[in-house]
Amino acid sequence: MDFSLTPSQEQVRSQARAFAQERVAPMAREMDERGAMPLALIQEMADLGFLGGPLPKEFGGGGWDAVSLALCYEELGRADSSVRGFMTVHTSLVSQCILQWGNEAQKREYLPRLTCGQMIGCYCLTEPNAGSDAASMETTATLDGDQYVLNGEKIWITSGNIAHLAIVFANAEPKLKHKGICAFLVATDTPGFRREKMRGKELGHRASDHAHVVFENMRVPKSALLGAAGDGFKVAMSALDHGRLGVAAGALGVAQACLDASIEFAKTRRQFGQRIGNFEMIQSTLADMAAGVDGARMLVYRAAWLKDQGVKVTRDVSIAKLFAAETAAQAASDAVLLHGGRGYSNEYPVERYYRDIKGLQIYEGTAHIQRIVIARELLGRE
Ligand SMILES: Cc1cc2nc3c(=O)[nH]c(=O)nc-3n(C[C@H](O)[C@H](O)[C@H](O)COP(=O)(O)OP(=O)(O)OC[C@H]3O[C@@H](n4cnc5c(N)ncnc54)[C@H](O)[C@@H]3O)c2cc1C
Repeated sequence: MDFSLTPSQEQVRSQARAFAQERVAPMAREMDERGAMPLALIQEMADLGFLGGPLPKEFGGGGWDAVSLALCYEELGRADSSVRGFMTVHTSLVSQCILQWGNEAQKREYLPRLTCGQMIGCYCLTEPNAGSDAASMETTATLDGDQYVLNGEKIWITSGNIAHLAIVFANAEPKLKHKGICAFLVATDTPGFRREKMRGKELGHRASDHAHVVFENMRVPKSALLGAAGDGFKVAMSALDHGRLGVAAGALGVAQACLDASIEFAKTRRQFGQRIGNFEMIQSTLADMAAGVDGARMLVYRAAWLKDQGVKVTRDVSIAKLFAAETAAQAASDAVLLHGGRGYSNEYPVERYYRDIKGLQIYEGTAHIQRIVIARELLGRE
């Protein structure tokens, strides 16, 4: 067993680390307070080759393997979950999904533009009455000649207000349940595509854009189908296999950031005439955090490595996402406590990690849903 990284994986990691620490981390607090990330930062990610990292070179991508992509997400997640979340949606849920399911014309039309940052992508699955149970979606697609007419609404759509391209899921034959679902590639300036900011202020991921999207008699040509009619549910789930690995790697980054911040604080904060790191309870917290980070890293890298071997990774990715997000949530909670009153203020980044990590436990399948996926693989269906 070889745990070392290849030179090209090392290179991706060091480039992502430099960008995350030098460009993203210094502005993370301001982005969180302002509730947005600069479009220029997205363009920088495109220029560095991150947005197209895992795409083949013929589409302007970097030809990265899954391990490299996970390393990039880990480093971004270590600095800021909104920025990492943006890239996971854009690159894994949208671009990798088009690469897997798109026909030649669709790949040529969209992938180079998504890669260079000319287009931003979003993924429209969740609805007010269909979250974990995505198959029960109520958005309909009615065939009318050589067009589909879409009606319905989506919520919590990351980048939905800034995106140029949306993968939209709608049911063309509700009687067939999930077998009636279709995936469509939709330009967001299509008449009938309406979007607005989600109501309320998010707990975390405050620099992300979250949209409420409404389709009102939105007409799209048959050629906008991504995959065949009725393949939509498979398209949605396969995209989540890509995206969940990104969330798992991002959670690993959050856990690492909590550990880094806590070590630094334990070495410098003094009480009772000594550094707090001398107290056994603080040492125990740090040791547990370090063990969790190592465990999460093994699971995330293993899932990525298995993906690179061409193995079906649904179970491994769910295990990695579940473990990494739960580990990071515990680490963030412990990190806030370890920082005392300072951990309760945005003067230190741990309170942002604490707020952001709840999102990673929820999106792309909640922790409950990951347990269902894992248990189904263990027990089979009856
Ligand atoms: C920051 C953020 C970004 C997001 N970005 C996107 C995006 O870009 N695109 C998109 O389509 N969606 C997005 N979402 C939506 C997200 O995927 C959903 O919120 C998530 O799938 C859960 O659905 P729900 O909110 O409807 O919760 P529900 O499905 O209503 O779940 C409520 C609770 O019930 C539990 N539950 C549900 N079913 C079961 C079951 N069978 N067994 C046990 N427990 C169960 C859940 O785990 C949860 O605890 C985003 C959400 C957030 C918070």
